[in-house]
Amino acid sequence: MIVPISLLAELLQALPQLRAQIYFKSSMTALSHAMEDLVLAGSDEPLVIASFQRERFYRQEAHRYRRIASRSSQVYVLAAPETDFKNASECHETVAFAPEDGLSKEWHLVVLGQQYSTCLICQEKIVPVENQDERGPLLMDQARRFEGIWTFDRQVSSKAAALLLDRIVQYRPELAEKIDRARTTYNLIETPKKTRKSAASKAAKPDISAAKNSKIPNPQLSDAFTERLVTYLQAGQHKLLKAYSAIAAQERKERLVNLITTAMRQSLNPQEIVEVAVQELGTALSASRCLIYRCKATDVAVKIDREFLGSGASSLLDQTWLLQENQIWSDAVARQERVYIQDTAQHPLIVNTKFLEKTVKNWQIVSWLMVPVLYQGRVLGMVEMHQCRSVLPWEEDEIALVEAIATQLGAALIQAETYAHLEELNQQLEALDRTRSNLIAITGHELRTPLSTIQVCLESLSSEPDMPAELRQIMLETALGDADRMRKLVQDFLTLSHLESGRVKWNVESLTLQECVDLALSSVRSRTVDQELPEIIAEVSAELPLVQADGEWLVEVLSKLLDNACKFTTPQGSVTVKAQCNGSRMVEVLVADTGRGIEANSLKVVFDRFYQEEGALRRSTGGTGLGLAICKQIVAGWGGKIWVDSAGKDRGSEFHFTIPTV
Ligand code: ADP
Repeated sequence: MIVPISLLAELLQALPQLRAQIYFKSSMTALSHAMEDLVLAGSDEPLVIASFQRERFYRQEAHRYRRIASRSSQVYVLAAPETDFKNASECHETVAFAPEDGLSKEWHLVVLGQQYSTCLICQEKIVPVENQDERGPLLMDQARRFEGIWTFDRQVSSKAAALLLDRIVQYRPELAEKIDRARTTYNLIETPKKTRKSAASKAAKPDISAAKNSKIPNPQLSDAFTERLVTYLQAGQHKLLKAYSAIAAQERKERLVNLITTAMRQSLNPQEIVEVAVQELGTALSASRCLIYRCKATDVAVKIDREFLGSGASSLLDQTWLLQENQIWSDAVARQERVYIQDTAQHPLIVNTKFLEKTVKNWQIVSWLMVPVLYQGRVLGMVEMHQCRSVLPWEEDEIALVEAIATQLGAALIQAETYAHLEELNQQLEALDRTRSNLIAITGHELRTPLSTIQVCLESLSSEPDMPAELRQIMLETALGDADRMRKLVQDFLTLSHLESGRVKWNVESLTLQECVDLALSSVRSRTVDQELPEIIAEVSAELPLVQADGEWLVEVLSKLLDNACKFTTPQGSVTVKAQCNGSRMVEVLVADTGRGIEANSLKVVFDRFYQEEGALRRSTGGTGLGLAICKQIVAGWGGKIWVDSAGKDRGSEFHFTIPTV
């Protein structure tokens, strides 16, 4: 059985002088609770009819209704069933109406006692979905509105009770007798004449609203009602405030995350991004100290270079901050999640670890939060928040904010890193491009010049069969010499390209430097048998520790440096090879000569590809301009360094390079 008609509509039809009013849900709740409390506080045995839209709304109040039922035998509760609500006669009567019933859109409470009567008859005003606040269910619930009547007027309350009892009897005909008793007890039987008279008399003064007629005769009850109403209104307000502070926290979080995201978009400089994050986080969480630093899971220590400082906290800037020793840090890194110690004085980890106890004392850390900055499981850094003066616990939503920022930071740092790699790649590409252009220039000159010489020689040899044998010999030697120069250039260029591509397989072994120097010297000598060389002095002790390098490449470096030294030094000068331990698990080799030297402004560029003092077009000493560039690549391959010193023109040169020891 379904009664689709609204009870409110029925009431307004019966009492046309009534004016409906809008109530927010919180006011409705407060009013209903105050009305229920009136029953509990009074000595009456009233008729109570409460109609809930859904069983779940009743369930929240079931306990109160059991107490109300202990005051009166005439208590009726109506609701649309959801789980176990059904028609039943227990401590009070329950009436399960169909969910399609008009009652399911309404909220009613009628109390009819001897000393007072009151009723609340309202219908929910459904707000269209597009106008609903999207900020969350809590706010949406608070925004629910009802239209209807709330009054202490006995006539209105009696009418509402009569209408509701009519509905109840339709759902539960077996209660007819009990309901009749209620009608009699609470004076609800209207004679048709009386009703007409009443309606006519009310019709004569249609503007008098129910509210104006409202009164509670008993002043004690009136006080109790007002007091309770205010309490419930306050409770409603408190709930609202909580909802607003939740929204404010959410907004704050979104604002901060946005700020970091904007900083990320505007800058690809990780330092700038970290600076914004550290300052904003420190301020937002009112921290005594906020640190954000880059680190890897294997780092032992970092130097603090970004910090937010609240008042009274001492600065950690430029301090070396130990990581592996710090159990909180290693826990955060191992678990890849935040570690929060609210009160360091009470925490067993701090109390039982000397290092932590000391750190906490030195830097007066009372609350300590660490949130790792991660990207795909890789540790990129750490966010640390310290509270220094007293225990001011951070709320869960504040910690969630730090975590959200740490996540953003992870993405920002990776983005910046990727950009830096791109830049580097770009530079490499540009360098490659320069090499290619250089190669073209070199090919243009270096290859074409000997090629044309070779061509001229060979043409002369073939066109002039009568050429004297001596001249023929010279022609042949010239052609062969130039062919050799071309071969060297191509070979050096290929070697350098191979080294630069990073595809070289290093065959690292333990070597005696002295043996390598001897090999290099004999190779230089064998290549220059017909040249007069400067004096070569080798002072490499057999006592030196073994070095760790690829032997072939080491001999190559030594040969190239010795070749150059001999090439740029007159036979009257000298070339010296020396080596010594330089104290940092490296052997430093020196190839010095007394030759033409290098001017100060060229010291940095001699290692560039194709650098030649005279320029490729005016070279007098042969060579390709690639030898030192090759040396630089080889030395870098074993993690060493190469550099040159020279006091200037004609004052000799000193080439140094380092090799790791075993
Ligand atoms: P190259 O084949 O021209 O010798 P390198 O790369 O070995 O190519 O050397 C580049 C340039 O560096 C040389 O052309 C020369 O100008 C300068 N240079 C190298 N070694 C010495 C040295 N021992 N004394 C003076 N200048 C040198």
